[in-house]
This record gives sequence, C-alpha cells and structure tokens, in this order.
Amino acid sequence: MRDQVDAQPLPVRDMAFFDGATTPPSAFTRIETILLASPLIYIDDVHVSLGTGVGRVDILTGASLTADNGQSLAILGPSGSGKSTLLMVMAGLERVTSGRIIIAGDEMTRLGEDALARFRARHIGIVFQSFHLIPNMTALENVAIPLELNGEPDAFARARGELARVGLADRAGHYPQQMSGGEQQRTAIARALVARPSIIIADEPTGNLDAKTGAEIADLLFRMQSDLGTTLVLVTHDERLAARCNRIVRVAEGRLIETAP
Ligand code: ADP
Ligand code: MG
Repeated sequence: MRDQVDAQPLPVRDMAFFDGATTPPSAFTRIETILLASPLIYIDDVHVSLGTGVGRVDILTGASLTADNGQSLAILGPSGSGKSTLLMVMAGLERVTSGRIIIAGDEMTRLGEDALARFRARHIGIVFQSFHLIPNMTALENVAIPLELNGEPDAFARARGELARVGLADRAGHYPQQMSGGEQQRTAIARALVARPSIIIADEPTGNLDAKTGAEIADLLFRMQSDLGTTLVLVTHDERLAARCNRIVRVAEGRLIETAP
C-alpha cells in the first residue's frame, strides 16, 4: 500500500470534483483510483514518537488501516500499546512523526492548525473515559459547544434535542458535578454527535463506569452510531464490547493487526 500511494504528491483536494463518480476516468493512475474509491479513513504507515532524548518512545511504528463509512471498529491492545495515541492522531490532536492520514478526502496530516480545527469540528466527535465535560457549563451548554464553534444559529435548540435523544431531556440545566457518571457520559456522547461528525472516536468510554451503567452507555453508543450512520472507532479492554463491532483491530508492537470479530 505504501509504495502505491507514495509515488506522487496526492491531488486529494482536487478529487472533490469527482465526488459521486462511480467509474474513474481511465486516465487516472492507480493512486488516484485508490483515492476515488475513497475509504472514509485511510491511515498509511503512521509513525509516532514522543518525548526527547533517552525519554523518547516510539509508540506507533508503521500503523496502517482503512475503514469505510458506517463501520464500527474496536481497537484492542495492552495498556501502553499506543491505542490512545492512535486516536489522538486520527483526531488531529497529536501530530504524526511520519506517515499519512486521509479522512473524508482531507489529508489531515498536512493541515495547519486552523484548517485542522475546522477539520475536527466537521468530522470528529470524541468521547473520553473520564467524560471531560466543562465543569462550569450546564449539560445543555456543554452539548451546544460544537455547534457554537461551527457558528450555527440554532445551537441551543439542537443541543436540547440531542440531550433528549440520549435520554437527558430533564437534565439540561444540571452541571456535571450534579450528574452521575452515566449521565455525564450520555452528555459527552450527545456533545460528540450533535454536529453530526463523520467519525465518533471513543477511548474506553465505559472504563470509569460500573458494569450496568457501562452496558447502558455501550448500548447508547451503538444505537446512536447505527441511527446516524456514523463510523465508530472504539478503544476498549472489553472483548465482549469489541465483539459488537464490525471489525477488531489489535495494536501490537506499534502496528495494527486485524483479527476476525
Ligand atoms: P494506551 O492507550 O494503549 O494505553 P498510549 O497511547 O496512551 O497507550 O501510550 C503509549 C505509550 O506512549 C506509553 O508507553 C506511554 O507511556 C507513552 N506516551 C504517551 N504519551 C507520551 C508523551 N507525551 N511522551 C512520551 N511518551 C508518551
Ligand atoms: Mg489509553
């Protein structure tokens, strides 16, 4: 795969012109044909090293993966194997050391900070293990953030609808510390999905919850993903949760290995 796509600079942005074309014109090279087929997520030979000097750690050492629209992928791997790092580079919150990530036709590994922020607002919703709600904002205000960042006029009305969708219509005015862990994670899921991103990234979303609440949150995540047709990339330690995904990818020695679900 690497040889195929390294042959020339990528004309990714120009490709938007051909959206919807079912058959690429025959003049297209193999590289362009791959891009026209356009998987939603295209990760090619990504290396990430963090830290400096003797503290430098090679976390990802040739990670490659493609995924199509609407799929759910479980990412499994031992603690410290680089799962969160993979999610962070997919979200554009951490830079790759080398390699390429193309999401929805945007070669995000080439984007500057401003373009990356716009990319993230349009394509990525994130759910963290420890919820990461803004403590001095109500549930409604937290959920409205992505819409406000996108400059949408009806942010609060839509945020209210999204809270209702996750079963929290009656918690809109609550602050995070006035909600249970499960309610906070529901709020975080509403915030992640309210702007209808292409991809929802979830890093051990049930890791801080008891088993029953965790199961409810997992059900909610899968229901929302399927209702909205969003692609889900889910890091989990839980093999049973992973088995609910279409695909299982294991992080091992800095690379990604797909195994049967
Ligand atoms: P996982 O999510 O699979 O537990 P992480 O992606 O969080 O793994 O971390 C992978 C490895 O990278 C760990 O060994 C961790 O200590 C190391 N690491 C994470 N962030 C940094 C950093 N900023 N600087 C140096 N090493 C880091
Ligand atoms: Mg992690």
